[in-house]
Amino acid sequence: MRRPKLRELKEALKSLFSPAYTSDFPRRAHEPYERFRGRPYFHEEDCTGCAACVQVCPVKAIEFNDEIEGGRARRKLTVHWDICIFCGQCEANCLTAKGIMLSREFDLATTAKREDLKQTIEKELVLCECCGEPVVPYDQYVWVAKRLGTLVFTNASLLLFYLRSIGLALKEKINPGGKAAAFNRSTRLKVLCPRCRREAVIKS
Ligand code: SF4
Ligand code: SF4
Repeated sequence: MRRPKLRELKEALKSLFSPAYTSDFPRRAHEPYERFRGRPYFHEEDCTGCAACVQVCPVKAIEFNDEIEGGRARRKLTVHWDICIFCGQCEANCLTAKGIMLSREFDLATTAKREDLKQTIEKELVLCECCGEPVVPYDQYVWVAKRLGTLVFTNASLLLFYLRSIGLALKEKINPGGKAAAFNRSTRLKVLCPRCRREAVIKS
């Protein structure tokens, strides 16, 4: 006959008279650990709209869409909470480290429709002054310009954008989605998309 092991018996008796290891949720509010990975949220003021988080999300829970309407271009970024697996890659790879962050929200049970389980933010896009196509989000340009400091003088588009943002250069009239203007030497002194800059350099 097998005899019960004393150590196991001791553990059984101990757990019988000690409080439960698990939390009392939902009777009592549960406080998750400091590094708990819960529902991710965009923080609009810290997000540049660069879309790096879209690239790294393993389940494609984040998407972006660029729209041009009435001369204004906007990038819409959406995080879908019903798809998210809370891996934390978006936060870990965010350009500013604060544009999207995982909260400690864990109680996600809801009766809301699946398509409503999302957060969307919008970012204004800078348009190419030659072809009118979106180049990068305005906030991303500002972020890069600030990081580069005096090195902005090494990039014509960035320099011009920076001078305009501090009121030292005039804004160009852009025709979004319009026909690309003829390339000449002065075209190089415009805010251009990579394709137009390449053509401007080759043709001028
Ligand atoms: S936590 Fe992971 S799955 Fe969720 S949005 Fe971020 S990268 Fe995607
Ligand atoms: S700044 Fe961060 S949150 Fe915003 S689009 Fe870029 S990677 Fe995503």
